[in-house]
Amino acid sequence: MSLKKTISSLKLPHYKGTAGMAAVRMAVPKEVLLPMNMHSGQAAEPVVAAGDHVTVGQLIAREEGRNSAPVHATVSGTVKAIEPYAAGGRKTTAIRIESDGKMEKCPDLSIPEPTNLDEFLACVRESGVVGLGGAAFPVWAKLAAAQKSHISTVLINGAECEPFITSDHRVMLEHGDLIEKGIALLKRFLGSEEYIIGIEKNKPDAIAALTERFRDDPAVRVMPLDSVYPQGAKQVLLYNATGKVVGPGQRLASLGVIIINVTSLVKTAEFFTTGMPLVERIVTVEGSAVREPKNLIVPIGCSIRDLVEACGGLKEEPGKIIYGGAMMGKTVDTLDASVLKATNAVVIMNRKDAEKTKPSPCIHCGRCVAVCPLGLNPTAFARAMELEDEAARAAILQKEQVSLCMECGCCSYVCPAHRPLAENNSAARRFIRGWETAQKEKKEGSK
Ligand code: SF4
Ligand code: SF4
Repeated sequence: MSLKKTISSLKLPHYKGTAGMAAVRMAVPKEVLLPMNMHSGQAAEPVVAAGDHVTVGQLIAREEGRNSAPVHATVSGTVKAIEPYAAGGRKTTAIRIESDGKMEKCPDLSIPEPTNLDEFLACVRESGVVGLGGAAFPVWAKLAAAQKSHISTVLINGAECEPFITSDHRVMLEHGDLIEKGIALLKRFLGSEEYIIGIEKNKPDAIAALTERFRDDPAVRVMPLDSVYPQGAKQVLLYNATGKVVGPGQRLASLGVIIINVTSLVKTAEFFTTGMPLVERIVTVEGSAVREPKNLIVPIGCSIRDLVEACGGLKEEPGKIIYGGAMMGKTVDTLDASVLKATNAVVIMNRKDAEKTKPSPCIHCGRCVAVCPLGLNPTAFARAMELEDEAARAAILQKEQVSLCMECGCCSYVCPAHRPLAENNSAARRFIRGWETAQKEKKEGSK
């Protein structure tokens, strides 16, 4: 990876029409469906059964295995079923809860009072908070880096560089108190000296509000960043905010840095303020098919259909439904898919906007290589994926460092031939992960 002195990036149209809209609470949905894999690690394990009565914030699935996270009831009511769930990616099980409409709070909740780092991490673990900007990596696992090495700098990611999404923006405007509380917690338990809140310049109100809030705190710096995509990507933000570069296979923490999404920080702080684990979040609902785009406060596990209803319905037939933004978001094929912990936005495009231009042959213009913020070569990935010999394919993909690709989609965006580079990169990354796991298992089996 060779980050350039000036990292390549794109000037994208922002389409952030909801930025000025305060988040409004959606009506209590009739039911929620909570998948067990709303985080990046191993799926959670249900601890309730059909017929159980549950209350808001009650543990319904415990964390299980590596980088897992617990799941809590997001409405009060009755568990109707524990059933297979497949929308939007990996197959898993999900807990369906029929709401009683009361939103009765779990009586067992209490405000955590940790006294040292280990206790703090255990509490963060209980909160169920994961990377809420889309990554879904459990926050406790990220903060646990502080057990091994000193974290001198905490980068708080408020860049929100994707078009359409404004949920982090609203969080920064509406929950400055919790950002302050979150930083106070990190100061106390991680002992980090420097806190940088990176915000794109297209959010001047958030920059002004947080600059004013931390005016007398020399440890906290609000850093306005150019409004370019993918400013919020880990490697890009790190470089632009600190000048540091994380090498292949290197952990951020080894540089003394962690990056935490601003909403993740706020939800962590909320748990230490109210005792309520992660049960709701702000979701931006946008796109050409949506009648009244909004920022909604919604219980996790409600359906995209519920969001649409709260936005006055659809004005046109949906052509594409996306979790997240138009660049890095994942497509889902049904309005019945659940809002997940990391669902910062749902973008619903009409058929015309969703239409794909037919790809034509590569003209070897090199634009995809020039635009890649990490200096990768997506055409080499594409050529490798055409090889039938899997060992040869894997060798090229490893040499070209496909595993570094962050699937930002910049290469696809600039390709004049409309080659499906991002999709190909994603398939190549899946292939190499599977290949490397198989090789490791083969090696262990032959011992
Ligand atoms: S999707 Fe991957 S290869 Fe394409 S620009 Fe982004 S990081 Fe580079
Ligand atoms: S941008 Fe498209 S046409 Fe140009 S080299 Fe890359 S894949 Fe080929």
